[in-house]
Amino acid sequence: MDVIDTDIAIVGAGGAGLRAAIAIAEADPKIRVALISKVYPMRSHTCAAEGGAAGVARDNDTLDNHFNDTVGGGDWLTDQDAVEEFVVEAPKQLTRIEQWGCPWSRTPDGKVAVRPFGGMKIERTWYAADKTGFHILHTLFQTSLKYPSIQRYDEFYSVDLMVENGACRGVTAIEIRTGNVILFKARAVIICSGGGGRIFPFTTNGAIKTGDGMAMAYRAGVPLKDMEFVQYHPTGLPGTGILLTEGCRGEGGVLRNKDGRRYLEDYGLGPADPWPRKKAMELGPRDRLSQAFWHEQKKGNTIDTKWGPCIHLDMTHLGEALISERLPFVRDLAKSYLGIDMVTDPVPVRPVVHYMMGGIHTDKHGATPLAGLYAAGECACVSINGANRLGSNSLTELLVFGTRAGESAVAHVHGTAAPGDAAVVERQGADSEKRVQALLAGGSGTESVAGLRSEMLHTMEEGCGIYREEASMQVTADVISSLRERVKSVRLKDCSRVFNTALVQALELQSMIEVCSALTTSALLRTESRGSHQRLDYEKRDDEKFLCHSMAHYDPKGPPKIDYLDVIITKSQPAERLYGAAAEAAEAAKKAAQPAAE
Ligand SMILES: Cc1cc2nc3c(=O)[nH]c(=O)nc-3n(C[C@H](O)[C@H](O)[C@H](O)COP(=O)(O)OP(=O)(O)OC[C@H]3O[C@@H](n4cnc5c(N)ncnc54)[C@H](O)[C@@H]3O)c2cc1C
Repeated sequence: MDVIDTDIAIVGAGGAGLRAAIAIAEADPKIRVALISKVYPMRSHTCAAEGGAAGVARDNDTLDNHFNDTVGGGDWLTDQDAVEEFVVEAPKQLTRIEQWGCPWSRTPDGKVAVRPFGGMKIERTWYAADKTGFHILHTLFQTSLKYPSIQRYDEFYSVDLMVENGACRGVTAIEIRTGNVILFKARAVIICSGGGGRIFPFTTNGAIKTGDGMAMAYRAGVPLKDMEFVQYHPTGLPGTGILLTEGCRGEGGVLRNKDGRRYLEDYGLGPADPWPRKKAMELGPRDRLSQAFWHEQKKGNTIDTKWGPCIHLDMTHLGEALISERLPFVRDLAKSYLGIDMVTDPVPVRPVVHYMMGGIHTDKHGATPLAGLYAAGECACVSINGANRLGSNSLTELLVFGTRAGESAVAHVHGTAAPGDAAVVERQGADSEKRVQALLAGGSGTESVAGLRSEMLHTMEEGCGIYREEASMQVTADVISSLRERVKSVRLKDCSRVFNTALVQALELQSMIEVCSALTTSALLRTESRGSHQRLDYEKRDDEKFLCHSMAHYDPKGPPKIDYLDVIITKSQPAERLYGAAAEAAEAAKKAAQPAAE
């Protein structure tokens, strides 16, 4: 087996991976970085982000406001010490990438433009038209090129972590072009492998988002945290699941049911204001908007289309000039995929799986419980997103915590002794090779990747959608348990080594099934409703029992063991989540109760 010696291996070259690599190169140019990615870096999902990145930018806003929106938006499941530091670093990181070339959109007087976003009670989302992720990723990629210490391994698929004597010592990866398994010996590994939305059939997520990094860490003994929290974005294009950014509503788009009513005022988000909007309505948090769709559908208020039930995203009052300037990409998407021009006609949309709040358990420095292993970006759970992420916090998160994970790994490398027992590490590397060989051998298995994957997708949608209940979740958990067994009998039709995408897909399926197993078990045991985890059989939030993170521990023989970790609360005690007029009334009552200032 080929062995590559490096200091820090990073799995994933999306926003988080590139930011971590740059942080390492800046901290110590002598540290060798192996940046491993299953696709060319610019094809990472960060590239698809449209709407923007949050950070306080104006005098009318405060860090406390960003903190409060994030903690309340996450239904108090966020770790508040991490959120406090996140909001402070957010504007610094966004300014930093501007200095590296990120072309933020501007106001006519030259200031960075900010737009309103869901659940943020004031406009603080920086954007580059509606291609923010593309510009951020491009900026990071081109910046990374100036550091010779960053060695890229594009189209290398990571398989397993090497763990020896209680520490992470490297990672194995298949060079997809040749099919060879390579052992990267490293003194630290950072996982930046993105989310796993592809475990659901209808998602905004690119095909590469299969939860590989989460599964790798999980199998190596690191718990997966808060996996039951899956975000539905309220405005996906029916049929494809392609996203129409929240920026559409930030710029003034409204949601209407089959009667043309802005129905969100029936769900505690109103009243419907004329633009400029002062209350929440369409700018309520994503969990609430997606749940409102579910209720409208039950009431028969959705619009029947050839793609199924939808509601209308109406932008027709905004005018062509504004749409072309700020939302050219989404206009194009609606035209290309539905044949609808949003300048003249409302666009049918429906909720779509978008983001995983849960992931690899890390502290606020990006460190996992396994020495030498770090994680950042969507695959990690720090946690600043709690039970429901606010739109535009994720791009900022990957900058803030990508940097932190990189810096923490540098400190670890500086402090750590020589790499562990080489023989043990090489033996583990050989186990990855055996996993690959077993799949390539063909064998007598009867299962196909496509068949098992479609069973997985179907059962996840049935049991773990916007609303959940025990009986259907249990069915899903049972199906996933059986898929865990059946996936061992997969037979590949293509058994060659060279650019074998069937092999990669088989390994991705193994990852996804482990992620599903952690998700369904965590969801079954959380007998409350909080944020994106809504149960029809336990409708209330239960702070007494569940103001805590679920931690799923891998068990090769059965479903994971779940235990719980307290949420860190610093300055915001759990309260009712209020939006729109209700939030304003509560704020006014609070002010009235305070003794008048001298
Ligand atoms: C359509 C869309 C729009 C979005 N819009 C916004 C927005 O406007 N604002 C916002 O804040 N958030 C947005 N998000 C969320 C946000 O973009 C993502 O959460 C974030 O970009 C994830 O970045 P990442 O670096 O963690 O992972 P990614 O960018 O997904 O990168 C993952 C990397 O890991 C690599 N990888 C994965 N598995 C392996 C493996 N086994 N071996 C080797 N490499 C591997 C991939 O090749 C890739 O390089 C959006 C998401 C989507 C899907």
